Amino acid sequence: KDLRESDGKSRYHALMMFTKVDKSRSLQDKFRVAMLSMVKHGRFLEGEVLVLHFVCDDASRELGEKMLQEFLLDAKFKYEVLFHDVSALTRKLFPIVEAMQKHFSSGSGAYYSDAIFFLSVAMHRIMPDSLTRMVQLDLDLQYRVNIRELFQEFHQFPPGAVIGIAREMQPVYRRERERHLKESLQDGTVKTAEEEEELAATLRYAAAHTFWQYRKENPQTKVGEPHPDGLPGFNSGVMLLDLASMRASSLYNQLLEPDHVAKLADQYRFRGHLGDQDFFTMIGMEHPELFYSLACGWNRQLCTWWRDHGYGDVFQLYYRCNGPVYIYHGNCNTPIPDD
Ligand code: UDP
Ligand code: MN
Repeated sequence: KDLRESDGKSRYHALMMFTKVDKSRSLQDKFRVAMLSMVKHGRFLEGEVLVLHFVCDDASRELGEKMLQEFLLDAKFKYEVLFHDVSALTRKLFPIVEAMQKHFSSGSGAYYSDAIFFLSVAMHRIMPDSLTRMVQLDLDLQYRVNIRELFQEFHQFPPGAVIGIAREMQPVYRRERERHLKESLQDGTVKTAEEEEELAATLRYAAAHTFWQYRKENPQTKVGEPHPDGLPGFNSGVMLLDLASMRASSLYNQLLEPDHVAKLADQYRFRGHLGDQDFFTMIGMEHPELFYSLACGWNRQLCTWWRDHGYGDVFQLYYRCNGPVYIYHGNCNTPIPDD
């Protein structure tokens, strides 16, 4: 299909969340790794343009403009940079995602500012119709190949698929209440205030976000089980959003309606706090045909937090990823090995 625009160029659109970056040295370092590795490997054809979209607050935008000047110096391809104001996008998003926020946000209320964590879910409704595809990327990534190859994955979508996404590589959606209780009671090892606080945080985190009730009531279920036979859920660090297909899919748009979200959340007894990732994971349990499974190498997550918090015995079943790595994801602040 010819995707050339009126100026004769074909554009490849990539979007990154870029807020409070001025306040975090660690986020700035991640951004540097991401952009320098993207530039190092990036190649596009004559007449092609990589369009980088950043969702920012004013201070982050100002810093981002400066950093990008440096990072994009050696780019061997044409690019454009677009900044989107996070408050303007939030204003458009909130009415669409307000109802789902209470199921997939931490805390009890639907907080206005949390709406932006659901941007990918409703991007097809708030971006102009001329935008037909978008890749959404975390900042804590390191590219090992030409990012143009990621866009080629859109061509692999089977009919009916609207989003391309890789699986979650920790037992995030396998929470078992008993494990956490056992861990907390274990031979009274919790002594210091810090240890107690960490344990309380673990339990809060675990309880907030899980299919554990559902898994208990359905012991044979594939929900939360490791791949390839199970359904371990998705990770939102690298996402291919086929905006045109999302607009055209009556099923997908039905699933955004408050009543449908509530029905599914009730059916799976789901409570989450990871925003879009939880929403996609939940609807993926019921409607896997909406998703194209990206190979694990496109989002090789490195976080091992759950290995050391009660899930060491099953961890490798989730974490393993054979085959080439195209993009490393240093999630939960995990260092990425050198290129
Ligand atoms: N992010 C941001 N500002 C923040 C925190 C996060 O813009 O203060 C964005 C950034 O793009 C980041 C993404 O949100 O990559 C998801 O957060 P993170 O990668 O830290 O989560 P993890 O992958 O460790 O779960
Ligand atoms: Mn990340």
